[in-house]
Amino acid sequence: MPDHCAFGHGVFGLEWIPVIRQFRDRMNNNKNLIFHCLLPFLVLAACTPADSPAPADETADAVAVINDDAIDLIIEGDYVVAMDDDSNVIADGAVAVDGGLIIAMGTADEINARYTANGHLAGANQIVMPGLINGHSHAAMTLLRGVADDLALLDWPTNYIFPAEVEFVDAEFVRIGTELACWEMIRGGTTTFVDMYYYPEVVAQVVESCGLRAFVSATVIDQRSPDAENATDSIEKGTTFVENWKGRNSRIMPIFGPHANYTLNSEQLAATRAAANDAGVPISIHMSESPFELEYSRQTYGMTSIELFDSIGFLDGPTIGAHVVWPTEEEIAILAEREVGVIHNPSSNMKLASGISPVTDMLNAGVLVGLGTDGAASNNDLDMWEEMRLAAFLQKIDKMNPEVLSASTVLRMATSGGAEAVGLKGKVGVLSVGMQADVIQVSFDDVHFVPTFDVISHLVYVADEQDVASVTVDGKLLMRDGEFLTIDTARVAIEARELAGRIQTALAERNK
Ligand SMILES: [Zn+2]
Repeated sequence: MPDHCAFGHGVFGLEWIPVIRQFRDRMNNNKNLIFHCLLPFLVLAACTPADSPAPADETADAVAVINDDAIDLIIEGDYVVAMDDDSNVIADGAVAVDGGLIIAMGTADEINARYTANGHLAGANQIVMPGLINGHSHAAMTLLRGVADDLALLDWPTNYIFPAEVEFVDAEFVRIGTELACWEMIRGGTTTFVDMYYYPEVVAQVVESCGLRAFVSATVIDQRSPDAENATDSIEKGTTFVENWKGRNSRIMPIFGPHANYTLNSEQLAATRAAANDAGVPISIHMSESPFELEYSRQTYGMTSIELFDSIGFLDGPTIGAHVVWPTEEEIAILAEREVGVIHNPSSNMKLASGISPVTDMLNAGVLVGLGTDGAASNNDLDMWEEMRLAAFLQKIDKMNPEVLSASTVLRMATSGGAEAVGLKGKVGVLSVGMQADVIQVSFDDVHFVPTFDVISHLVYVADEQDVASVTVDGKLLMRDGEFLTIDTARVAIEARELAGRIQTALAERNK
């Protein structure tokens, strides 16, 4: 794992000019806030190296005299939504990026006066915000999108997905499927994802070339899978993968992905945790997803899933738990105490009828909760905007209370909260000086943004993946004005259709 805090605020000795519009308790204070009528206001979070401090009251002079060399990129927007602890939103704002990091934030006028940049993204009708964090995916399953729908959770993997995977999934499948997924995630403004699939070295290579940030899991499962014979074999292969990729690329975190407690026994789960702790990497696992899993756990171990994990020391290390639909009150306390990052996947939970996760109860108990899409076979897309919307709606209908899980809380789950849940707090998920420059622009040009009374409301309740205009990860542009700069999308589409054709033919043959 990289040092998450290497670029924390403390390194830079920041000077925040206190002319900051704070949107804390926004909904309580002004339910009809009209953003476009706000007077422009200034926040200059200048990155001021120790040798060139810029005290707030001397900023005008500092701007006039500093003649920095050209920086990499300036990203402008009508509003810069920082997603920081103070919920700052900068009107007519800009983010200055250099060396992969955010080096300053402020009004566009201030930033443009202070810096010359080699790249420049205009801000008219654009919202600038942190890239989205998809905390649970099976990227290559984009190639199984729509193969088997409308089936029960156990029937679905056992009789359709697992056999299809054993038959069709190889390194080429994973390469094409992951490229397809990265294309879709970049299209939708996702900049970090946590993946669990086979041939993790292939996933890592695709992530490396497409420029996204990802936790890439070596899947551990006690059955013949596309890349291993059983649990022992998959742990051994996973260990080799983690050794090969740890520290190789700061954007790629190799981790272990034990599938679930019904596809691994307690010894195998404990062995996977031991391997992860030996390598110093986190674990991502499906956790308390379905009534079946709960019943299996009770019958096999005499306790529910999270109790089991805790009892065998499985939570003694960084853990990302996907789904967590059926935790007991006691288990929610365990999740909070163990700082397990919970990833809520509302689309998948609804489509597979897994249940409604008690997200608000977990948040109230101090559990770290992020959002994910799950694989495209159970969603069936990788649109994090839809996950935000559904997360809010599900809690409201579950509690029969429209006031629970507000838009701003859900936006946090997809950005800063998601970063915390996957262990990247202080590195991504927030726009502030010293953070990695994982930044997106969302275009507010389309008809569904007219009129815009409340930017946060529109981002959560209106936007979709087609509205994202630009995507930057580590200061590098991956998409600009809808054009993909790191993926040959025409080639990927041809390869994906060709491979899907072969799958379809084979399935038709098998079902004759
Ligand atoms: Zn999953």
